[in-house]
Amino acid sequence: MAYTVPKLTDYSERALERAATECLSACLTDANSVRNSADLKVFRDRWLSRKGTVAQIKSAWLEDAPKDARKLVGFWFNATKDRIQQCLKETEDRLVQEVEAALGGNLPDRESVDISLPGVRRPIGAEHPVIKTTNEMVRVFQKLGYSVADGPVVETDYYNFEALNFPPNHPARDTQDTLFIAGQQGKPQRERLLLRTHTSPVQIRTMEKMRPPIRIVIPGTVHRNDPPDASHSPMFHQIEGLAVDTNITFGDLKGTLDHAMKEFFGSSVKTSFRPSFFPFTEPSAEMFVSCFICGGSGRRGEEPCRPCKQTGWIEILGCGMVDPNVFEFVKDNGYDPRKVSGFAFGMGADRIALLKYGVDDLQLFFQGDVRFLGQWA
Ligand SMILES: [Zn+2]
Repeated sequence: MAYTVPKLTDYSERALERAATECLSACLTDANSVRNSADLKVFRDRWLSRKGTVAQIKSAWLEDAPKDARKLVGFWFNATKDRIQQCLKETEDRLVQEVEAALGGNLPDRESVDISLPGVRRPIGAEHPVIKTTNEMVRVFQKLGYSVADGPVVETDYYNFEALNFPPNHPARDTQDTLFIAGQQGKPQRERLLLRTHTSPVQIRTMEKMRPPIRIVIPGTVHRNDPPDASHSPMFHQIEGLAVDTNITFGDLKGTLDHAMKEFFGSSVKTSFRPSFFPFTEPSAEMFVSCFICGGSGRRGEEPCRPCKQTGWIEILGCGMVDPNVFEFVKDNGYDPRKVSGFAFGMGADRIALLKYGVDDLQLFFQGDVRFLGQWA
């Protein structure tokens, strides 16, 4: 059935709806007559090619539309286009089902099966290098008596920021540009949902549920509003830890992390702590390990060592003593800052995997190319 795109003279909602309905009904009739892949190609070309019906609608409706009607026409054009694409997809699915049904119906008719033919090979999957790195690091802490905790990726502002000592409008929030869930302006700020920017909310959630002493390690996915490049991704992975008890000191923090790094990177690595700032720890530090690639010399033969920028040290994690302000939020569950103390640490699993596997572009981990990922299977 031939369908010609009508010129629009009336740009009212009612007229646009009528034009869209006529177009879709012609598209559905056309789709119903598709019987094989040759028909499907004709159908796709007629409706969705560069000069197809959808393109014609775009010029016939949108280009001549008066300025004040453009938004409405745009809406109806997009809705019509989506439905036509959906119609194509459903027609493809229907053809696949028909072919499968026909094959299935023919199977019993076949006289024999050639059992000498090679079977269908199903490749066995393997851990993704980031997951593998995470699991190895988690195991190091499990051996020290830590249990694994997890929590929601979609968090409230309260758990992601406020309870971690980032008050509303605090400048430290700027360092973690967040992806917010849309349409929540009606809610109080602390209830608004966002994609968590760190795994730290799980620390608060766990302290609300478990009384001290606790020792937990928290692996998980986090998001920030960072454009993707060789060292950034809007989605990445962290591993955090938290230990709370009476009389936990900075010495416990240093001893635990030094031991963990030797377990993970090898017994010859050294660690170094340098002062830093995080809103939820006080004092805070960045921990470096001696470069396990050049052995701390800063050079690889004649070449400068790039992973450690020739310094012999690689920054691995942030850590510190839990700020008493954070304990105030969970005080009623036994975390009186005058009675307990603790330390926390957090590291980027992706960064450690990059270093460990000698990969120089973070994006390679997330493009899903099995030729790349298979190297570590
Ligand atoms: Zn180095």
